[in-house]
Amino acid sequence: MDNGYVLAIDQGTTGSTVLVFNQAGAVCGRASAEITQYYPQPGWVEHDPQELWSVTLDVVGEALEQANARPGEVRAIGITNQRETSLLWDRRSSLPVARAVVWQDRRTARLCDELKQEGLEPLWQEKTGLLIDPYFSATKVYWLLDQVSDLRSRAAAGEIAFGTIDSWLVWKLTGGQCHVTDYSNASRTLLFNIHELDWDEDILARLDIPRAVLPAVKPSSHVYGETDPQAFFGHRVPIAGIAGDQQAALFGQTCYRPGMAKTTYGTGSFLLMNTGRSPVASRQRLLTTIAWGIDDEPVEYALEGSIFITGAALQWLRDGLGLIANAAESEELALSLQSNDDVYFVPALTGLGSPHWDAYARGMIIGLTRGCTKAHLARAALESIAYQTRDVVDAMSRESGIDLRELRADGGAVANHFLMQFQADILGVPVEVPSITETTAQGAAYLAGLAVGFWSSREELAARWQLAQRYEPQMEKKQRDFLHGRWERAVNRCRGWAEE
Ligand code: ADP
Repeated sequence: MDNGYVLAIDQGTTGSTVLVFNQAGAVCGRASAEITQYYPQPGWVEHDPQELWSVTLDVVGEALEQANARPGEVRAIGITNQRETSLLWDRRSSLPVARAVVWQDRRTARLCDELKQEGLEPLWQEKTGLLIDPYFSATKVYWLLDQVSDLRSRAAAGEIAFGTIDSWLVWKLTGGQCHVTDYSNASRTLLFNIHELDWDEDILARLDIPRAVLPAVKPSSHVYGETDPQAFFGHRVPIAGIAGDQQAALFGQTCYRPGMAKTTYGTGSFLLMNTGRSPVASRQRLLTTIAWGIDDEPVEYALEGSIFITGAALQWLRDGLGLIANAAESEELALSLQSNDDVYFVPALTGLGSPHWDAYARGMIIGLTRGCTKAHLARAALESIAYQTRDVVDAMSRESGIDLRELRADGGAVANHFLMQFQADILGVPVEVPSITETTAQGAAYLAGLAVGFWSSREELAARWQLAQRYEPQMEKKQRDFLHGRWERAVNRCRGWAEE
């Protein structure tokens, strides 16, 4: 086939991955590389924006080479990114003013407390669909603007740009020509009114964030601009899709009808349910978010549960404790035990997200006896992923009144059969893994391909979704509720720890 390719850039928390898709939707080339995580203080997490850009560009080159594709054959670029992570840069020099503050970072917890004490949360939730938490960009931007003297006035004068990682990559790819983001990313900043589809003046005023730093907000499937040949292998290629990683995964999983849901198991886990053209306000401390906007169509919304640490619990066993050589090893270790022997690991390493929202919760391992081995820790880490997902599913069912019929799963950790089976068991509903599990990149490619006519319609894309494996629940309800009940007791014991 000689119709060219769509390139999907997935700039995630762990690293950058680039996939090259042909018109049949097949992956022809793939490359990825990890990025450095900086932990300058407890609870702080940073990335170097220059490294994000250079690693991403290297990976683009490798993926194209692997696909045997020339840059000139790329018809469109789609970008998907770790959401909420925020940075500021100087528009003239394109230099970041500081390292990017990552979504997991908790440094603004006190500021969030103040905002909540002022009673702002109900109003801000109504406007943005989100809760007041350090997770979202708003307080990170406030913090960044305070770091360098004069920065606020320079920002007000239009010299400084704010962006989530999508904005930063588009800025670099276009040689500073485009300062944009899409609805899905904007809806994660806590600065964006998801009903009016504009930055919210009241919130900006309270946080003293000048409008001049903000990017233009466009649909997720839209031609934003072209690459600068000097930045992109000598070629002008349209950048035609942008979506936050979780919304991109929902799009890639082709969950186009209201009620369809997916969960992505990466560093954290994110369960999103399509709710169509109407935003569903949450009383269960879930998030209401924009799923995507397609050119010339009304935006669509989703309900979301955000879990901060799931796959990262395995990374911590690997890097923090040195107990395992790689995440995959956890499966064999977990299967070496008949049960969890009542050992629970609450991986609240950066606080707890949905539905608990406790910035001061901290990680805890409970139930240890002398017979415990690293197998117990590996099993408890994997089980914690499934329990946290159940917490969100329970809240979502209460909220929407819809009982989940099945859950589409994707992300790095779906490779773990123990985890997927245990997830089906603990939820009591089937878990479905598609044949392409890199649905995040796939969603970005689909959005870009639709905007340039590389693909014709969502129906065409939905017809391509293919099941690779379906995990049926096998556990008795009594057993599942018992295990989940023990988990809930453990969660309650680690709440508020860092505040005491
Ligand atoms: P992200 O996009 O957040 O960087 P990925 O989707 O690439 O994440 O998934 C990487 C995560 O998946 C890591 O946190 C890793 O620990 C976890 N992971 C990868 N393989 C396995 C496995 N076999 N079992 C459990 N977890 C795994």
